[in-house]
Order: sequence, then C-alpha cells, then structure tokens
Amino acid sequence: MSKPNPFETAQKQLDVCSKILNLDAGVHQMLRYPMRELHVSIPVKMDDGSTKVFHGFRVQYNDALGPTKGGIRFHPEETVDTVRALAAWMTWKTSLLDLPLGGGKGGVICNPKELSVGEQERLCRGYIDAIWQFIGPDKDVPAPDVYTTPQMMAWMMDEFSKLSGKNSFGVITGKPICVGGSWGRGDATARGGMFTIREAARELSIDMGGATVAIQGYGNAGCHASFLVQEMFNSKVVAISDSKGGIYNPAGLDIQAACGIKGETTSVVNTPNVQKISNEELLELDVDVLILAALENVITEENAPRIKAKIVAELANGPTTLEADEILHKKGIHVIPDFLCNAGGVTVSYFEMVQNMSMYTWTLEDVYERLDMRMTNAYRKVLDASKRFGIDMRQAAYTVAVERVVEAMESRGWV
Ligand code: NAD
Repeated sequence: MSKPNPFETAQKQLDVCSKILNLDAGVHQMLRYPMRELHVSIPVKMDDGSTKVFHGFRVQYNDALGPTKGGIRFHPEETVDTVRALAAWMTWKTSLLDLPLGGGKGGVICNPKELSVGEQERLCRGYIDAIWQFIGPDKDVPAPDVYTTPQMMAWMMDEFSKLSGKNSFGVITGKPICVGGSWGRGDATARGGMFTIREAARELSIDMGGATVAIQGYGNAGCHASFLVQEMFNSKVVAISDSKGGIYNPAGLDIQAACGIKGETTSVVNTPNVQKISNEELLELDVDVLILAALENVITEENAPRIKAKIVAELANGPTTLEADEILHKKGIHVIPDFLCNAGGVTVSYFEMVQNMSMYTWTLEDVYERLDMRMTNAYRKVLDASKRFGIDMRQAAYTVAVERVVEAMESRGWV
C-alpha cells in the first residue's frame, strides 16, 4: 500500500474543519495552500574536492498571526509535500498555543549521517546563504527538526548574523545555551506532552500514579517521555520500542538500564531479562496510556480496532490516519492530537525568541511554569470545543486553531 501524501492528509483534515466551522469558500481556499515557498539549490564543496548540489525548501504557510516558525529537516527522503504538510500543522500548532506566530517549515534532501562535520557545516551555511533574505526574527524563524541539531542551528545563526551584519540570535531557535538557547528546550516536547496527559487523565479520572504506559519510539521525544512519566507521575513504563523492535515487562521496565543499553548498542531490544515484543504488539497492549513517539501512520484502520489504551498521546507528527481516528473516537479512546500533544517544543522555542529579543534569560523554573500554563490552557480549550461541538479531540483542536487564524486574517483585511 502506498503511503498517504502528508500534504493531502493535512488538506483533508482542514476540509473537515472547514465544514464544522462553516468557513467561507475563499477563506477555506486560502488556508488550503502555503502563502509562500522557496525552492533552492545549494552547492557544497565536499571533502574530496568535488561539488555536490543539494536541494532544499522553505515553506511559509500562513503568517496572519505573526512571523512564521518551524523546524528544518535534513532527510534523504524529504519532499516538498512533507514540508508543506508540516508547515500547515505548525500554523495550527502555534495558533492553538496562543503564540503570536504563524507556521512554516524547511527541509534539505540529504543524509547528514553520510556527511563529515565539515560538509555538514558547509551545507548549513549554504542553506542559509540561499534563504537568508526570506527569513529573519520578524519574518520567519527556523529551528531544529529531524536530523538537525543545536550545533547546526549555531552555524546557521552565525551565517545569518554575518550576512545581516549584526548578531541575530533571534533568527533561529534550538541553539546551544551559550549562543542564546533557552533552558528547558531539550525535553520541551516530551514535557509539554506530559502536561496534556496529566489533564487528560484528570478528565478521565485515571490516577497516573501507578498507571501503565507504553511508548513507541525511543529517540528524543520517546526517551525523555519515559523518564518524565516516572518522575512527574510515578507511572509504570511497561513497554518501549525503537525501529528494531520492543521490550515489555508488565511489572515495569528499568528505564535507566534500557536507556543505557540503547546508548551502547543502538537498540532497546538488547536489554536483558525482558520480554521481546514487536512494534505492532506494543501498540495493542492493554495500558492506560499509549505514547506514540516514532513515525507517521502507525495507527491505521487495520489496527485501530485492536487498540486498548485509554489515552493515546501523539508526540509524533501524524501517527494516526483519518480513518483510524474515527474508529478510536467510536471506541471512546481519548486521543491527544499531535499538534496539541507535541507543541511543547515550539512553545519553548517561542520562549527562546522572547528571551533573545528582550536580552534577558529565564530560569528553568520560569520555563516549566510558563510551559505548563500554555499547554494546560490549550488542552482545556480543545476539550471544551470537543464537548461543545460533539467532535473528536483532533477536529476540536483544528476548530480552535483555525478559528484564531481566520480571525487574524479577517482583522488584517485579507479576507
Ligand atoms: P528521533 O529520530 O530522535 O526518534 C525516533 C525514534 O523512533 C527512534 O528511536 C527510532 O528508532 C524510532 N523508530 C523508527 N521507526 C520505528 C518503528 N517502526 N517503530 C518504533 N520505533 C521506530 O525523533 P524524535 O525527535 O524523537 O521525533 C519523534 C517524533 O516526534 C517525530 O514524529 C517528530 O516529528 C515528533 N516531534 C518531535 C519533536 C522534538 O522536539 N524532538 C517535536 C515535535 C514533534
């Protein structure tokens, strides 16, 4: 079966929301497409003396609410449609979190794992050389995403600063602390997700102390999530997985040990004294909370009828298909949709911009407190819309987010 085109999925989700909100046809069309996009070719001098040309994109989906914001992905299978879809989801995410920002995304088709450090740096600087007039602290502010790192953000910020003739820390977020990064950015996505899980558990009267949790995906988001559910709620992580497979212990896994094994051997499956399970089996475990922190399209109409978790928390982008959504909703499973659940990253990125602009740094406690407030407010607004319109949480998140963007477009006189 061919993979769904992510941009078509994003457009279909908007179409459903447009009907619920009874949007004017022109407004709907405006929201179905990016406002601007730039396609660039980036020549990079390779270590062997040859020149290789990489292709990249920057999509500014909608800036009615403020400068566009969104990460830069370095991926061998990057496509402009993936970047467009992610830029659309960023637009809804920043709106939902009440941030004064629009949505954007960037990508370069490359495999950074096959590049030397020097080649990576030249590619990062080359990408900025190609797009620098298109971005800026008050225009469009990139950040790290798949396969891009804080070090890469530092090179990009430096290149932009050189080109613009001034230190421009605010042009990019996710930087190392010493060049304008924010405390709390590292685990912000997972921590933000925890605040929404806490609220969902409260709504469903689930006691998170001792609740069982399964986590698919053990990278940045999934690994932080495994520690945070224990630290913040004293929940029991019974299963985790990565691309090589999963491990399970109904009495609770030793996360510290699994994390160490993952670091030493690249996979959690090498953890001793645990039951091995497949990724498919992990998704269907009878747990209180299932955290999706790997890839798109993992819950489909095929496996949705067998999902038993009470709460499905989508730290990953697009892990549930449209058809599966409907099935989960009918089964009474509470889904915390991706652009709500994983909005902690962009929220702390926004905090980083605010700190850069005001030349004042916040403490870790400041960051946690403000993140909690924003995530909790967003969750409650979505829950309220879900009850008010009798719709599932994803559609509710769409209505809240899209309404705010439409209001801004109307106020500005665009539509
Ligand atoms: P990552 O590359 O650090 O980790 C991904 C993990 O998924 C890895 O452990 C990998 O082994 C695992 N994986 C890959 N294929 C799998 C499969 N078939 N089954 C189970 N596990 C599999 O990426 P990340 O930064 O943790 O991001 C994960 C998801 O969260 C992505 O969808 C990303 O877009 C989303 N997200 C991340 C952030 C963030 O700040 N890191 C922010 C917003 C959204």
